[in-house]
Amino acid sequence: MTWTHWQVPPFITSVFFVLGMLTLYWVTYNWLVSWVHHQRRFNVTDDQLSTWYGVTYMVVFVFCIQSLVVGGCEAWQFMNFQLIAIIFCAYFLNSHVPYYAFIPILFVYMVFDQSLGYWQSWGHALTLMLFFWVLNQIRVKVTTYPWAPLSYLAVCVSFGGLLWLWMKFKFNFSWQTLGEEWLYLAIFVVLLYIYVTMLSHDSQLKLRLAQFASHDALTRTENFAAYTAAIQDQFSASRQNQTALTMMMFDIDHFKRVNDTYGHMIGDRVLQQATSVVQVVLTANDPQVKLYRTGGEEFNVIFPNYELAQAQVMVQQIFSAINHLSVPTEHGPLEISISVGVSALSPNDGSPIDFYNRVDRNLYHSKRNGRMQITSV
Ligand code: GH3
Ligand code: MG
Ligand code: MG
Repeated sequence: MTWTHWQVPPFITSVFFVLGMLTLYWVTYNWLVSWVHHQRRFNVTDDQLSTWYGVTYMVVFVFCIQSLVVGGCEAWQFMNFQLIAIIFCAYFLNSHVPYYAFIPILFVYMVFDQSLGYWQSWGHALTLMLFFWVLNQIRVKVTTYPWAPLSYLAVCVSFGGLLWLWMKFKFNFSWQTLGEEWLYLAIFVVLLYIYVTMLSHDSQLKLRLAQFASHDALTRTENFAAYTAAIQDQFSASRQNQTALTMMMFDIDHFKRVNDTYGHMIGDRVLQQATSVVQVVLTANDPQVKLYRTGGEEFNVIFPNYELAQAQVMVQQIFSAINHLSVPTEHGPLEISISVGVSALSPNDGSPIDFYNRVDRNLYHSKRNGRMQITSV
């Protein structure tokens, strides 16, 4: 085998070409997601990112590959690759491209492909839009059924056959060529399904492990490891951009007594309910403000871009929400209270630890001073 003699059948080469194209997508997409998360400046969800990046990647791919054969009598040669790109966006990414975006893309493609004057190409374009829409639909509606892979296969093969038929009318190639291309498409479609399922299984596993490492299993809030990373990030961001940063720390009062009197199970339930009311307050006010379980019955709340006075409103809401909590037990309702320390980042804080220590001192002051109170300096 040399650069001029490639003794591998074209079909095998195409399989690896398709897998390579998908792998490159996956690797670059994952890189993009972690970059965007790290930047924190962009307000996009992973879903929006996958739609935008996926559609752009595949549009560029479809145009690039078509530029190799455009205008020739074999301009249909790469159609299976292009169909795979479209199926990937419509079914696996479930990108919803509205018709008013679809039409200009197809129009530009047809100008580029010099196929505006062919009625077969118009039929092909319309079929393609319908194909995309049907794939979107079955992805949403039948994906939970055990026969979902079969419906995917049936839709891809039937629309694929129709799309190849339009091309047969346009380019007048033999029925045998049509049959071969159709069969290759069916094989690609199956391989695509298996490959993407394997990749997403891996990434879901990674996601679950990451979730496990950064969250507390009992209360489902972020844990001490997540807190350490977040405060370091926020501390640097605040220093760099000269923005405010406030932190609240609270600890449930006489929690040992709760465990001793009502048992550990009730203690656990108190922790779950306390965190869930805090989450309700945070979600209602500002989802950028995050709660962390930093100890057994000790929690931190980080307020990025909040001056002390601005944070006080939410601090007060959290304080009264928990103090009004009533947890039902066999011996009647159980009421709890918390002691709180709050402080804003000061120019004298050399590290996140200095900041933490001041908030902790404020909390300690609340405890010493009779509990169920807020100290903020
Ligand atoms: P203070 O008002 O001074 O904070 O008193 P306290 O009793 O709350 O403080 P202390 O630190 O003495 O006790 C904390 C208790 O929290 C001890 C520990 O058994 C309990 N605890 C820690 N984690 C958990 C947990 O996950 N579930 C339960 N049920 N209890 C926990
Ligand atoms: Mg306590
Ligand atoms: Mg404690």
